[in-house]
Amino acid sequence: MSEHIVVIGGGISGLTAAWHMQRAGRRVTLLESEATVGGVTRTIAQQGFLLEQGPFNVLVRDPAFEELLTELAGSIEVVTAGKAAKLRYIYRGGRLLAVPTNPLAMLTTPLISFPAKLRVLLEPFMARRPHTPEPTLADFVNRHVGREMTDHVFGAVISGIFGGDVYQLSLPACFPTIAEIDQKHRSLLLYGLSRPFAKRTAPKKSRRKWKGMVSITGGLGALTSAIGKHLGDGLQVNSRVTGWQSTGQMIEVNYESAGRQLVLAADRLIFATAHHTTAQLLENSANPAARTIAAELQKIVSVPLVVLNLGFRSSNLGHPLHGFGYLVPPSERDYPLMGVLWADSIFPQHAPPGHRLLRVFIGGSRHPQLTQQTDQELVELALNTLRNLLQIKGQPVIANSVRYPHAIPQYHLGHPERVRRIEALLPRLPRVHLVGNYLHGVSLNDCIREAKKTTQVILNINH
Ligand SMILES: Cc1cc2nc3c(=O)[nH]c(=O)nc-3n(C[C@H](O)[C@H](O)[C@H](O)COP(=O)(O)OP(=O)(O)OC[C@H]3O[C@@H](n4cnc5c(N)ncnc54)[C@H](O)[C@@H]3O)c2cc1C
Repeated sequence: MSEHIVVIGGGISGLTAAWHMQRAGRRVTLLESEATVGGVTRTIAQQGFLLEQGPFNVLVRDPAFEELLTELAGSIEVVTAGKAAKLRYIYRGGRLLAVPTNPLAMLTTPLISFPAKLRVLLEPFMARRPHTPEPTLADFVNRHVGREMTDHVFGAVISGIFGGDVYQLSLPACFPTIAEIDQKHRSLLLYGLSRPFAKRTAPKKSRRKWKGMVSITGGLGALTSAIGKHLGDGLQVNSRVTGWQSTGQMIEVNYESAGRQLVLAADRLIFATAHHTTAQLLENSANPAARTIAAELQKIVSVPLVVLNLGFRSSNLGHPLHGFGYLVPPSERDYPLMGVLWADSIFPQHAPPGHRLLRVFIGGSRHPQLTQQTDQELVELALNTLRNLLQIKGQPVIANSVRYPHAIPQYHLGHPERVRRIEALLPRLPRVHLVGNYLHGVSLNDCIREAKKTTQVILNINH
């Protein structure tokens, strides 16, 4: 009989792992504590709005993500972002300034000063290689294009991805490919200029089916629920794992469902829970390696975040909201919001006709204390902050808030070393595997790629 694989956690990581195991003919049981799958990747449809609870868009860049979309083709429909999504803004001194997308716009932008622009142009002469194998993101940008770019531009972009601090995040952990280029090439500009030639001479890659930023008809929650449906009886929702133990060749998994304490026997166990939950499930193990991994996972910091989805009648908004939205750089220290996405300008399906939808992010590493406020206080904070900037009249027709005490793991300095230590200990936990956004990337692309890789490792062991 084929191996029984138990997966704990039905977010995108666990669903992807279970999906590939099932397609390879393995018996899979996915235990999810909540009533529905998706984890942070969920969508609520209300009053004609699509309210993304967690992720909003995916950048098509990884073959594993494209493959997953193709495999699910009969069950989901991919939606590509409108052209407006390319227009991005940065908040600076009470104004929204466009992020330059070409060299001329770079020269004329009011985002950075004239000396800072000169510094960018002098990159081939002034840039230096890193002093350390693990520079921070800020160190990387400072060395290449100067500190103003870090504080006024790049820091905002990073806040949009990690909700974190460029002065603490590790370049090799967050962007390993860029870190490699940084170690090998002194100037990024000269490296970039040499690329078109390298590309022409390189063998052609297969054509991409989708380009840029995508979502799914019905929201990204439609992707996770489609995988959940395909798992059929292999999916058990309302099933919270409380413990596990190795018993020779098998693993016993304890879980609660409908008030009952149940046990499942597994040949292999995949933990696909967030890092703090995985730590809790490992810390009481009889296996010392599991306890050491738990201690490592507990040291990973994650930032709290609140996502507010605010829907308005179009007539109550004076601003055209044409573009992706805006992000806030580290230099705007006292500005209470991390950024605002103009949801229906990117994917029109997110608001009904005659309405607009804003996604407001509050908290992150800059203002974690704000996430302690009540929902009503946060809606008021957002409205007071946005009223003049976006010319808002009246109240929103819909206000939905989602709280994440541990929204996104921060890959601070030391993260690659920590991951190496964890992965070196894993062989001492036979038949146990870890997947999730705390190891090799936080985006949906990363989670899907890493979950697929893990299933391939398991399938190769049993070949
Ligand atoms: C607000 C926000 C916005 C984001 N925006 C984007 C974006 O636009 N694009 C992008 O690419 N990425 C984005 N990300 C990152 C990305 O969405 C996440 O990194 C990714 O979805 C994490 O998926 P996961 O499956 O690893 O974890 P999770 O989604 O956290 O799933 C873990 C699952 O485990 C379950 N669980 C927990 N405890 C137990 C237990 N004891 N027993 C059984 N089940 C349990 C949980 O209920 C949950 O379903 C965003 C993240 C957040 C929080």
